[in-house]
Amino acid sequence: MPLEAQTLFIDGAWTSAASAAALDVRSPTDGETFTAISRGDSADIERAVDAARRALQGAWATMAGFERGRIMTNLSNLILANAEEIAQIEARDTGKPITQARTDIRATARYFEFYAGAADKILGDVLPFLDGYQVTVQREPRGVCGLIIPWNYPASMFGRTVAPALATGNTVVLKPAEDASMSCIRLAALAHEAGLPAGVLNLVTGLGEEAGAALSQHPDVDFLSFTGSPEVGTLIQTAAARNHVPCVLELGGKSPQIVFDDADFEHAAQTIIGVITQNAGQTCSAGSRVLIQRSAYDRFIAMLKERMSAVRVGAPAADLQCGPVINSTQAKKVQGFLDRARADGIEVIAQGALDGSAVKTGYFVLPTLFGPVPTTHELAQEEVFGPVLAAIPFEDEAEAIRIANGTAYGLVAGLWTENGARQMRVAKKLRVGQVFINNYGAGGGIELPFGGVKRSGHGREKGLEALKEYTVAKTIVLRHD
Ligand code: NAP
Ligand code: MG
Repeated sequence: MPLEAQTLFIDGAWTSAASAAALDVRSPTDGETFTAISRGDSADIERAVDAARRALQGAWATMAGFERGRIMTNLSNLILANAEEIAQIEARDTGKPITQARTDIRATARYFEFYAGAADKILGDVLPFLDGYQVTVQREPRGVCGLIIPWNYPASMFGRTVAPALATGNTVVLKPAEDASMSCIRLAALAHEAGLPAGVLNLVTGLGEEAGAALSQHPDVDFLSFTGSPEVGTLIQTAAARNHVPCVLELGGKSPQIVFDDADFEHAAQTIIGVITQNAGQTCSAGSRVLIQRSAYDRFIAMLKERMSAVRVGAPAADLQCGPVINSTQAKKVQGFLDRARADGIEVIAQGALDGSAVKTGYFVLPTLFGPVPTTHELAQEEVFGPVLAAIPFEDEAEAIRIANGTAYGLVAGLWTENGARQMRVAKKLRVGQVFINNYGAGGGIELPFGGVKRSGHGREKGLEALKEYTVAKTIVLRHD
């Protein structure tokens, strides 16, 4: 393991920032500093990109797909063998309840398992063309991939980006979020132990506006993947445009849960409250609007109320449904939404409560159900990124679709109805990247392509779709007559 503040992993070795600067790392659970990370900047990004570029010429370039897959399988197994330790790191760093952290670490291992199996199945095409020609299309790695990930699911985001990048033969420079780098540091160490050649995976901890900006703007980076806020997404996309490189952006959402009056209410209510309080609502795909058919509104609201009131918020070790949010800025941001909604006269239908383990210095906010929320209100339009659910009534299918599609975002939608024809009819009309019918999230679903439309971003991660993003087609035309 690297020493404290020697958290840059460049060219197979742990090092401190060239500037020697470091950043304190605080626990969201009590606000106390518990360790430090290196404050990497453009000089360190320079070293990391250079190492990643050189690694593209080394053993990695000639390694067969199945050999890359074996290293990734080793890594998956190492993650499982060290799962409890990594889960504890993740829980301390992000504040998430330990059961949720354990689930995330299993998902991280699954990413490497899934893409290890794909590494020797990156197939091309043979195209019919004119007589006397042989045309093949092969998928080649992009090259050096710059991956910038957020703080909400650091370990599993490591898996979601690094695993498909490696499976397809790329090299990587990863910039984790300053608030949640610890599990990524541990995972980079395990990747090295698994047999990854030096320079294939480089990790630069630091600030977004320093290390992140330098990575996104670096002219020798061939591909960018970013998950985070739409505002920074615009900066990443601008940098990508300047360098003429492709990027995948995942920018969050305002995802609707649409509940028709024929739904299985029990299952829907339990899932909807579970999803919005999971990870303290800091989930890009969180269903943060619940659209309820008016004929069932009162009945369903009563069920949501009962469940939201029962949610308890506390420290990761207390292992409740909800932990703190990531930092004081986020806590203030969420509290601001709560205060403004109240000031605007929107009724608080239900709130969870703090457990004894929620100390005053921690970044705790109360899970809250508001309703009815006007469709134009910020609670119905903006991503809160906290455990806040906005209830909105609708009359019929047409209105449900109009409200569901009526935000700037388009990531995920949940649809709750027993009517089979309506399930498909509505699913087809929703402008989102994923629709879940009578379920939501499907336990993370590594196999399932994921990504948004509109302000939620573009490109697809997860599943076999991600392999297309991390490769580029080369067409080879041979004339043989
Ligand atoms: P953010 O600034 O977009 O951060 C996401 C990642 O981008 C982090 O690694 C961050 O590094 C980095 N970054 C920040 N500024 C950058 C820049 N100028 N150039 C390159 N990289 C940069 O998000 P945030 O400030 O942490 O959170 C703000 C809001 O974003 C949240 O309230 C939430 O609404 C949304 N969000 C969405 C997701 C999602 O999954 N879609 C995840 C997180 C946040 P540092 O953190 O080290 O600065
Ligand atoms: Mg932290």
